[in-house]
Amino acid sequence: MIFLASSCMLGNEARYLAECIETNMVSYNGPFVERFEKAVAQACDVRFAIATNTGTAALHIALILAGIGPGDKVVLPDITFIAPANAVRYVGAEPVFVDVEPDYWQMDMEKLSDYLKANGRGVKAIMPVHLHGHPVDLDILYGIAGRYGITVIEDAAEALGARYVHAPVGSLRTPQGLACLSFNGNKIVTCGGGGAILTNDPDLAKRAKHLTTTAKSDPLEYGHDEVGYNYRMTNIQAALGLAQIETLESRVQVKRTRALRYWEGLFRVPGLTLPKQARWAYSTYWMYSVLFDPLLFGKSAREVRDILWHDHEIETRTLWCPLHMQPPYRGCEAYKIEVAPRLYEQSLSLPVSVGLTQEDQARVIEAIKRIER
Ligand SMILES: *Cc1c(COP(=O)(O)O)cnc(C)c1O
Repeated sequence: MIFLASSCMLGNEARYLAECIETNMVSYNGPFVERFEKAVAQACDVRFAIATNTGTAALHIALILAGIGPGDKVVLPDITFIAPANAVRYVGAEPVFVDVEPDYWQMDMEKLSDYLKANGRGVKAIMPVHLHGHPVDLDILYGIAGRYGITVIEDAAEALGARYVHAPVGSLRTPQGLACLSFNGNKIVTCGGGGAILTNDPDLAKRAKHLTTTAKSDPLEYGHDEVGYNYRMTNIQAALGLAQIETLESRVQVKRTRALRYWEGLFRVPGLTLPKQARWAYSTYWMYSVLFDPLLFGKSAREVRDILWHDHEIETRTLWCPLHMQPPYRGCEAYKIEVAPRLYEQSLSLPVSVGLTQEDQARVIEAIKRIER
């Protein structure tokens, strides 16, 4: 069986986890959360990382920190995991979906700009998603956001280790800037589950810690000074995450090598469109997603998915379902959606785990070629 995205242990995972058990520090005590937060901040070149129990929780808190609430609109790309849209709803705001561009599948900056020109009133934040480990065009994005005075909260959940020109994704452009990460099991670095809020502002960092730890003001008397959230990360989660992030560089290298090998193996196959890297991008290929043109290839992406699974025991997945098509978000504003449905129809993500062996990858490439013949 070859799985789409399994986690992979490369370093100190067992040692750090054993330390949690030997010291009996398995919960919200112990040294690993702080060590992990430091390592995450360093990897993303920011001053503070505040660990949370999920990436979704990190997005929720980031929206609160940015002062987003009822009546505000938040612009999101139409193609993403559903978490950022849910987080927007958690604070009572309204998501607006903008189409993605056809080359790198990131939020379409021209359409974003057009949307704001015509409908900018009420838009309080833009939440770009660095889809599949490829950065959005941050120069253009921050130019647009600056022109309209709109906050940017970067959902960098899929792009830890990626770079925009030379800057790590997650490194922030504005003093009050915010970005979020996820350490879910399928991400490049995992805590089992987890997330982080990134900021350079000491006050925002302090408030993020306060809100994620039940807004406790007096630990001896169980005093809480506002409605907080129990979004804490445990020592166990952080121990696993620390060991994983210590090997981030080699994880990215492995995934980029896998991407290159897919390109070498598949670029001649008619009817396939392979992922590209923009000139500003250093992608981690968190997912490696290919478009299947059913006329030229002879089979649709979903047919290929089913054949790979049933005949070859290879797991693949279609792209995130466009948000404007998801039942909870069907009534929302969706701007010039033209590209997203085609990508959803034609794309398939191939296995590209850090632990995927060269032999297994060759088996995936051969299976796709055999289907085509
Ligand atoms: C994984 C992911 C998240 C966070 O997911 P959690 O499972 O809550 O950690 C958020 N946004 C995107 C785009 C993601 O891929």
